[in-house]
Amino acid sequence: MNQKKKSDVAVLLDYAGSHKGLTFLGLALSAVSMLLSMAPYICIWLAARDLIAVAPDWTQAQSVAQYGWLAFGFAVAGIFLYFAGLMCTHLAAFRTAANIRKQGVARVMKAPLGFFDSNASGLIRGRLDAAAADTETLLAHNLADIVGTITLFIAMLVMMFVFDWRMGAACLLAAVISIAAMFSMMGGKNARIMAEYQAAQDRITKAGTEYVRGILVVKIFQQTVYSFKAFQQAIEDYSNKSEYYQANVCRIPQSINLTFTEGAFVFLVPAALFLAPGVLASGDFAGFVTNFAFYAVFSAIISTALAKIMFAASGMMLASTALGRINQVMCAPELKKPEHPQKPRDGRVEFEDVSFTYNGAETPALSHVSFTVEPGRTVALVGPSGGGKTTAASLIPRFWDVTSGMVKVGGADVRQIDPHVLMEQIAFVFQNSRLFKASILENVRASRPNATRGEVRAALMAAQCGDILEKLPKGIDTQLGPEGTYLSGGEQQRIALARAILKDAPIVVLDEATAFADPENEALIQKAFTTLTKGRTVIMIAHRLSTVVGADKILVLEGGRVVEQGSHRELVETGGLYARMWADYNQSVQWKITSEEEAK
Ligand code: ADP
Repeated sequence: MNQKKKSDVAVLLDYAGSHKGLTFLGLALSAVSMLLSMAPYICIWLAARDLIAVAPDWTQAQSVAQYGWLAFGFAVAGIFLYFAGLMCTHLAAFRTAANIRKQGVARVMKAPLGFFDSNASGLIRGRLDAAAADTETLLAHNLADIVGTITLFIAMLVMMFVFDWRMGAACLLAAVISIAAMFSMMGGKNARIMAEYQAAQDRITKAGTEYVRGILVVKIFQQTVYSFKAFQQAIEDYSNKSEYYQANVCRIPQSINLTFTEGAFVFLVPAALFLAPGVLASGDFAGFVTNFAFYAVFSAIISTALAKIMFAASGMMLASTALGRINQVMCAPELKKPEHPQKPRDGRVEFEDVSFTYNGAETPALSHVSFTVEPGRTVALVGPSGGGKTTAASLIPRFWDVTSGMVKVGGADVRQIDPHVLMEQIAFVFQNSRLFKASILENVRASRPNATRGEVRAALMAAQCGDILEKLPKGIDTQLGPEGTYLSGGEQQRIALARAILKDAPIVVLDEATAFADPENEALIQKAFTTLTKGRTVIMIAHRLSTVVGADKILVLEGGRVVEQGSHRELVETGGLYARMWADYNQSVQWKITSEEEAK
């Protein structure tokens, strides 16, 4: 609740930690420097007063040089303080940006693994980097400028009325007219036109991004930009809207705005002419001329002040974008740690009446699923696509937490096991096994960082990777990834299997990947599977029925429910969904063999 009431800037400043005070010091210095920058104008007024008092015998004016030096001193002190202020705000801004990155990464580390499914790590990093960079600009520069501008503005108003309020009012009138012109561009009917113009700008950005994404298709099919109707329309629409906006909304107000900010002193002349008769009668003509000289010079800072106000407004917008980005990361769900962690007894996996609905989904991905896998046994999850196989497997290592029911490992609810201990119990191999941009050795060792080179090599051999190591000159030290060697899909699978074998966990969750494998690789992968699964509890997501025949139990998942379970023989005899899938599978194999024979 408290958080809500705080302004965006205050929330961002909280990330500065011990450096928060430095920000305030920087802002104070910036305000003082602005005040000092006004002082030379007073010196000019004093010098002008002295000169006019002795006119035309200028040599009599003795203090002019002093005022000149004083003005110089104030200007230098102002600049010096401004830089000192910037130094403080920069130090605080760098620390804040570093803290945002650190806290963001720490937060993300606590998120359940499933979070990374919908938030690719590149995206998270991008958000954090952009937020940190925005915050850096805001706290290092914009905020100091905003405080400086406010100070400048107040000081300007005071100064306007100190010497001659009538001439001050003339200058102020110029400022008011130019501000009114500026706001007339944004208010009333123009607000709608401006909104339309901004929407067109958004559309062109989005359509442009889509176009760049689709550039591969454009090239392959020899298309032109005109085939991207949406993009073309967005460009034309933007062009029309911006022309209309500039010609009908901006032209006159912007001309007025610029004329009155840049030429405010023009207002002074009629004001002076109007006041002159009264002044002559009073006899203080010298004072009047001095004041006129002062306002003529002083009116020049009005345009600077107004320009700064515009910048200040955009700086504040930066704060809310930065905070929005940070919150996307900081509000990542947190994997709750148990207060009294339990230890899993063995490799048994149990699902007790488990239901699970993805965030934002309307129908549950799993409904009332119950089954048990005894330690050392293999269970295969089969069924039509979208049946819930992957979801069921992801609940075991807590990619997500169940909506209701319980998933147990070694007799303990997974939510009651320390996440590190749970991870030690499970090795998983996904369809698209991620390999890092690192050496093969480091890639495999990721699952057990203290493994020796010999142990890594043995795991690679057990995963049938001997041929891969042999063909690479640097063997186990070969770098993978963009700058290094690329491996085929099947080869990557085997390296991933070596990683799982090295982990030596009692439970293995396997997404049987066959998509990449050629027959030769497939045979090797099957061998590696056998080594990996020996003596372990295995939950296997099976895409082809040939691999599930030997499983101790087969669970058929359809529409998030277990519709059948049993051994291969039992299920075939039952004559249900599995039996039909098995019959279809056999038929497809039959066709394949027949067509291959015919081809010969
Ligand atoms: P299978 O592995 O059997 O193909 P899944 O477990 O992947 O099935 O999917 C089960 C259901 O959950 C499907 O309806 C799917 O659309 C939905 N689903 C899967 N992943 C997500 C996700 N990250 N967010 C929302 N819905 C999802």
